[in-house]
Amino acid sequence: MKSRLNAICVIVIVLFSLTACVQKQIQPSKTAEKPKNVIMLIGDGMGPDQIGLLLSYARQAPNSIFIDGKTSFDKIIEDGGVMGLSMTYASNVLVTDSAASASQLATGRFSGSEMIGLDNIGNPVETVLEKAKKTGKSTGLISDTRVTHATPAAFASHQAHRGMENEIAVDMLNTGPDVMLGGGIRYWIPKEANDKTSAVRKELDKISEGSVRIKSKRKDSRNLIKEAQQKGYTLVFNKDQLEAAKGKTLGLFSYSAMPDAIRVSNSLNDPQRSIPTLKEMSAKALDILSKNDKGFFLMVEAGLIDWAAHYNDTGLMLHEMLRINETLEYLLEWAKDRDDTLIIVTADHTTGGFGFSYTGKDIPEAKDLPGEKFADRKYKPGYNFGDPAVLDKLYKQKLSYTDIFDSQFGALPEDQQTPAALAREVNAYTRFPITVAQAARILETENNPIYVKGHSYLGSKIVPKLDNKDEFFVYQKYDNRQNLLALEVAADQFVVWNTGTHTATPVIVFANGPQKEAFSNIMHHTNVGQKVIEAVLSK
Ligand code: MG
Ligand code: ZN
Repeated sequence: MKSRLNAICVIVIVLFSLTACVQKQIQPSKTAEKPKNVIMLIGDGMGPDQIGLLLSYARQAPNSIFIDGKTSFDKIIEDGGVMGLSMTYASNVLVTDSAASASQLATGRFSGSEMIGLDNIGNPVETVLEKAKKTGKSTGLISDTRVTHATPAAFASHQAHRGMENEIAVDMLNTGPDVMLGGGIRYWIPKEANDKTSAVRKELDKISEGSVRIKSKRKDSRNLIKEAQQKGYTLVFNKDQLEAAKGKTLGLFSYSAMPDAIRVSNSLNDPQRSIPTLKEMSAKALDILSKNDKGFFLMVEAGLIDWAAHYNDTGLMLHEMLRINETLEYLLEWAKDRDDTLIIVTADHTTGGFGFSYTGKDIPEAKDLPGEKFADRKYKPGYNFGDPAVLDKLYKQKLSYTDIFDSQFGALPEDQQTPAALAREVNAYTRFPITVAQAARILETENNPIYVKGHSYLGSKIVPKLDNKDEFFVYQKYDNRQNLLALEVAADQFVVWNTGTHTATPVIVFANGPQKEAFSNIMHHTNVGQKVIEAVLSK
């Protein structure tokens, strides 16, 4: 009798849970079956390490700018979103680069290292953007790096190597997303633009209103922005022009990448600011794309998180995370009362092997604690577990390491580029001062050929390469001044950086909106790509 009662109990409980479960599934508006619009937000290099930095700052910085401690990543989950984990490796290798990773996200197929929109043997594969376009949806690509840089490129072009940005620009124009916004005008204008007296240069100076540095990296005379105009694109080069744009729009706001997030933060309230933010570009794109009754596919990239992480520049990386946070906040707000938009937020890989870490430096003094277990002994942990005040200091960094070295220290006459001058510059723009001896070590080491250049396409300083290629793998031998500075301040920041390149650490996938459940899983980025394609083709 008792066991029967128990059985009934169990059945009742199971039924009750099932009902609760069903109720949960048919809950609010976010679960309309098929999304009309799909938005992908990609943080380049934004692994769990980077999201962790943002969350530590939001929750623990004594003067955090997040009053309630809540980031947009918290909000997407609070609003009913889901999380998954995704491996990012490319075909037959352990670690991916951004090109292969974006190709896998865009096509749902394995790709090879540094390939753009190809499968692993080098054949073009139709991307989610191309499929969306075929079904009559509007499409858009936004990046704060160059429009032709690996991440956006992989959604609208097919080339053997990510470095072929001249060819990628032609491809992208042929594919024809309705909105393309970002930097990198240098691949879109003819080589004649480098002659200041040429007609094309004068025309470019005029239409860009002096907002963009005009210089071409093309080897030919193709004027792709003219061709874009003939295909019906409105051309925009600054914030005001962007605000006024309607319909198909090509926006090129800088010579190479757009300004880093510290520069953006510094100039945000400047009435003269002519460069739009990632959020402002996203807002405009949504404006344009949402006019299509059939819906749209939009990819937005916060691409400079990766660059900050390559340089091991923690303060800059925090600002880059604040940039994607602000953009996501806008996207979530836009989609809030809609049931027709799927938002996916992820990264292409993790960069830098970043983490806060405790140290043996400056171990705090023993102190009294009121708790009963400390009535007759002092409280004295054996390590320095880190002061959350460093988070405020990281936020207060006023220039990126690259700017400190290039536009400040590098701008001094050569005979004034001394260790004392470097220490002065670093200490003026960061809250982690270095000594003259430390500055001397940075300058001495960067001229030592044992330090190799790891990331040529970022345009960092060329350092002689080693003959012994094995040494390339020794990441603790950093490859440039930024990374060497990072090493000098690491203990004071409670920060470790394991590499100047990428790691295979799986990335987090956040999703909310119709078909979000598909992303609550452990996946590979080819699966994520397939699920995004399914979502785009579902309606
Ligand atoms: Mg990228
Ligand atoms: Zn990278």
